[in-house]
Amino acid sequence: MSTQAATEDLAAVIGLEVHVQLETDTKIFCGCSTDTVDAEPNTHTCPTCLGLPGALPVLNEGAVEAAVRLGKALHADIPERTRFHRKNYFYPDLPKGFQLTQYDAPVCQDGELEIRVEDERRAIGITRAHLEEDPGSLQHVGGSIETADYTKVDYNRAGTPLVEIVTEPDFRSPQETRAFLAKLEEVLEYLGIYDSQRDGSLRVDANISMVPAADLEGGASEETLAEANRTEVKNISSHKGAEKALAYEVTRQRNAIQRGREVEQETRHWDESRGITVSMRSKEEEKDYRYFREADLPPLEVSDWKERLDIPELPDARRERFQEEYGLSEEAASKLTSTKEVADFFEEIAQQYDPDLAATWVADNLLGELNYRDMAITDLEGRFDEFTRLVELVAEDEITEKNAREVVLREMLDEEKAPDVVVEEEDLGKTGAGEVKAAVEEAIAENPEAVEDYHEGDEGAINFLVGQVMQKTGGSADPGQVNELLREELD
Ligand code: ADP
Ligand code: MG
Ligand code: ZN
Repeated sequence: MSTQAATEDLAAVIGLEVHVQLETDTKIFCGCSTDTVDAEPNTHTCPTCLGLPGALPVLNEGAVEAAVRLGKALHADIPERTRFHRKNYFYPDLPKGFQLTQYDAPVCQDGELEIRVEDERRAIGITRAHLEEDPGSLQHVGGSIETADYTKVDYNRAGTPLVEIVTEPDFRSPQETRAFLAKLEEVLEYLGIYDSQRDGSLRVDANISMVPAADLEGGASEETLAEANRTEVKNISSHKGAEKALAYEVTRQRNAIQRGREVEQETRHWDESRGITVSMRSKEEEKDYRYFREADLPPLEVSDWKERLDIPELPDARRERFQEEYGLSEEAASKLTSTKEVADFFEEIAQQYDPDLAATWVADNLLGELNYRDMAITDLEGRFDEFTRLVELVAEDEITEKNAREVVLREMLDEEKAPDVVVEEEDLGKTGAGEVKAAVEEAIAENPEAVEDYHEGDEGAINFLVGQVMQKTGGSADPGQVNELLREELD
């Protein structure tokens, strides 16, 4: 970039490559289990995922289905047929010496995902999403990659299905990438093809360049983008990480340009603990990988898979429906659609009780208390009925809202008690309607003179009867309600 740029206003251009681990039972090209969380190293392996000579890959249909569902959610084109290529490079975590990936016929192309940042909605273009296998994992012992005494390799992860989602260079700020990643995770979880809690389930490479802001007005030209020197930042594993790494790069690149220096076109590494990016190597080019077709896997016809595979209602659509159908505020509807589990749970309660009450209880009370304890709705699995019962206790006016929130809910979460147990133990029950009614009947039966006085028009008599009922209920009944009940009985 010329030194002239130093005096111009600069703007960031950012594109992401996001690697997502798909939740399948077995690996993408062999029958090894992907459930490797507590497994001993190298126990989930076979000749195929170890790359032994003569072992052949068999494509996992579930992985392709997951990618097609994702394609539908991203409004992407699903081609008639999709196929695999070998991407050749040498690294110890890659036993075959090549990675099976997709090149010229990825399973999804030309999609988009809408994000919202500060009330502005923007569609981020999705260039492509393709399937590939994860390499194994390396563990450097006694230091970093440069200083370690030796390195251990574990092939349990080798062959785990990944989908790589490549965006157009449509982001204009680090903040937007964070919103995008959060939204993408939401969609992936709704589709049931992804587990955000799993270590390393989301890995991001972020490409960034700084260009004269004027060049971006009315959309960036291909030329501007191609000419700009960009860096690719690797090793990002969270939304926040992406935002921080890119904010660092914005400053670093801007400073370089303003001092009249050129930004190197290179691959950089995000050092999370130090909060900086460091140079790794000059950027590799496509030709370095000597892509060629995988002859052991025939092309796969997927033209009619898009119609065959259903996807659930996605978060945006569901949020809008919640606003319309249940009259919720946008904020409440957003909270309630943040995960599919929360949304399903809210709907179940809203259909039995008042939707406003259901919204308050799920969005504010429950999510608030879970959040405070660093818990997720999934931690309540198997106990949804108990929570529904708590809402019922409030809806039927059997306990006060305050006690429900501050005592019962908290003990339910902290001590795993059922709501009725807490109510009983802490003696929180308001005097039930039945009990008040019984006391009213008793008071009438025991005081015939007062009843007679009342019928003769003595208003003082009713006050006496109210007093009797209050005494019988230990003062916990509502005097106004008692008064009404007495009159109903007597008239
Ligand atoms: P490569 O093959 O070098 O990785 P691609 O053309 O496939 O390059 O693009 C990779 C990523 O780089 C995409 O996410 C794309 O949006 C992004 N990108 C392209 N041009 C720019 C640019 N000028 N600044 C920032 N990111 C860019
Ligand atoms: Mg790249
Ligand atoms: Zn295997």
